[in-house]
Amino acid sequence: MPYMSREEIDARGPEPWPQSPADALARARAVMAQKGLAQANQQMGQRWPVGCVALEITQRCNLDCTLCYLSENSEAVKDLPLAEIMTRVEKIFVAFGRNTDVQVTGGEPTLRKRDELLAIVHRIHALGMRATLMTNGIRATRDLLRDLATAGLADVAFHVDTTQQRRGYQTEVELNALRERYLERTAGLPLSVMFNTTVHDGNFEEIPAVVAFFRAHAGRIRTASFQLQADIGRGIQGARGQAITSATAVAQIERGAGTPLQFSASLVGHPACSRYAMCLAANGSLYNAFDDLRLVAALQCATVGVQFDRAHPTVTARRLAYWLCGHPAFLPSVLGWLARKAWAMREDLVRSRGRVRTLSFVIHNFMDATKLEADRIEACAFKVITAGGPISMCLHNAKRDTFILRPIRFHRTTSTLFWNPLTGTETTEPELAIVGNGEARQHRHAKGRARDWSPRRSSL
Ligand code: SF4
Repeated sequence: MPYMSREEIDARGPEPWPQSPADALARARAVMAQKGLAQANQQMGQRWPVGCVALEITQRCNLDCTLCYLSENSEAVKDLPLAEIMTRVEKIFVAFGRNTDVQVTGGEPTLRKRDELLAIVHRIHALGMRATLMTNGIRATRDLLRDLATAGLADVAFHVDTTQQRRGYQTEVELNALRERYLERTAGLPLSVMFNTTVHDGNFEEIPAVVAFFRAHAGRIRTASFQLQADIGRGIQGARGQAITSATAVAQIERGAGTPLQFSASLVGHPACSRYAMCLAANGSLYNAFDDLRLVAALQCATVGVQFDRAHPTVTARRLAYWLCGHPAFLPSVLGWLARKAWAMREDLVRSRGRVRTLSFVIHNFMDATKLEADRIEACAFKVITAGGPISMCLHNAKRDTFILRPIRFHRTTSTLFWNPLTGTETTEPELAIVGNGEARQHRHAKGRARDWSPRRSSL
């Protein structure tokens, strides 16, 4: 597979905004068909026009990860004006519609002013979309999480791993204590909890132990997402070694899960980009929920009109049961699957008094900045929202400065203004708002490749 040249990367910009969710769905369907990915088990273009969108509300971060997708210039960039963020939220809604997963991210989104963060989440929720807070957890206090849940936050995703070099934690296993503390902060809140873990050369052998932690907390944790090391952004660690591939990551997850998993039953976009598996959990044991590939694919196709609510699995189960009543042809295969699962889980079901939870695993295989594959970029299910429209996250991160150092144009009733990303001021002269790399890099909080790499551990 030839990689995109620098010229090709530079020439490619954001996609035009879809005119409507129907337009977005038709485009996604067309891309999947063109790439030969429109199988029955492909959700992109069937159920969803996009996997999720990333709304970056700040470029700043309070950590300095060894694998960071931000740019050496990010810390110098002021937070986008709230009006611009809200404009992007409205555009996401017009383009992709209700139920769109909107990742409120950065940088570290909790560095944004609290009232602004709450307003952003509230607006996403008010439009019927799902807001996910992507945080390293340092500032995600119980108090903030409760206010965010009240504002309509659906999911919180804690990013915790050894690339963050947190003081007092040398290994992933030691970090399980911190994961536990973060999980405690969400107790009783109506939030779906996710943990993000970077799989890298330094922690690959520990992945089963991390998965065992997620398994022990299945139900309270709904999703465990693993991102494979990629050479992108300001991170100093560089490209991953040969031991890490999607296949070996699957094997490590299976080791920790204690069961084989099926990562190809349900696709969201390009299979080289992301993989998804779902488990049933009872009494601390996991069971592969996707063992019947044909049934999963057939149900996915047939239930595209049924809304899945991750925050309320019982609501989703009720909707599916109701749907099943109207589609009796599926009853024998669904009941057969239920009977097989119940039999396989019988001992754990007795011990858990019939209580069953779900735990999903996601593997995301971001590309190195210099090894972008055009096919995957075109079929991308994970878009970053820019002023000019949505763009593949891999492509965005390979040319982040193009977006974050560009002036933002505002139309006022009587004039057009340009917001300068380094000063945060507005001017009527576009050339005064244009900044260069060198100008930004002089920022005193240099991070990633721009800083002197004597050991520096982040505080909590
Ligand atoms: S192109 Fe990159 S961001 Fe998009 S789905 Fe693939 S790996 Fe993810």
